[in-house]
Amino acid sequence: MSTLRVTVWNEGRHEKKNPAVQKVYPQGMHTVIAQALQAQGLTVGTATLDEPEHGLTEAVLNQTDVLIWWGHLAHGEVQDEIVNRVHARVLDGMGLVVLHSGHFSKIFQKLMGTTCNLKWREANEKERIWVVDPGHPVAEGIGEYFEIEHEEMYGEHFDIPAPDSLVFVSWFAGGDVFRSGCAYHRGRGKIFYFRPGHETYPTYYQPEVQRVILNAVRWVGQPSGAKVTFGHRPQPLEPLSTT
Ligand code: ZN
Repeated sequence: MSTLRVTVWNEGRHEKKNPAVQKVYPQGMHTVIAQALQAQGLTVGTATLDEPEHGLTEAVLNQTDVLIWWGHLAHGEVQDEIVNRVHARVLDGMGLVVLHSGHFSKIFQKLMGTTCNLKWREANEKERIWVVDPGHPVAEGIGEYFEIEHEEMYGEHFDIPAPDSLVFVSWFAGGDVFRSGCAYHRGRGKIFYFRPGHETYPTYYQPEVQRVILNAVRWVGQPSGAKVTFGHRPQPLEPLSTT
């Protein structure tokens, strides 16, 4: 199998505006995520909101097997034309991994068809992420659970369609719980939503988090079956009797 071609998309605004975020991610979250995947032998590029066409030209997307999406401050600035382009690629088989506050991105809402709203709290809480589908490929190499010492809390209810597979459930020190690893199929494409990754915490440096993202990339990037066609089919495969 040829190596997976991954594009890590990051809005990239927190890193420009907030010194606390710059300190944790001096070259942006996308760089840390990209380097972790490159170290595993994947072919990885990056794209950000402020590039022409948000860095997601037809050419880039056509050479992308898996797109990773991180956004928060500027979901509304993502052009609908680009959202539609990504949407079409997902339905045609491109994998999509949506991280953290990407739950409110136009592309995730469009693919889910719900508000994707949730509860949140920034209180430096411990997060314990439980594997609830140990047979799922995205859980490979993860124990029964792992912990992130400090994270933002996301809590239920999370307004998403029931996932095809629920792989992780998070418990937070304040008592909230959250469906934090959700797998979907849309058209010929696969989607994985993974919750952790608030911009002020070094979450994307954590080995377990990097392992989950790698697993998710491999799962959504699996070959997505047969090519399909749609529309008018004037010629039947077998002769049809007209009597
Ligand atoms: Zn956040």
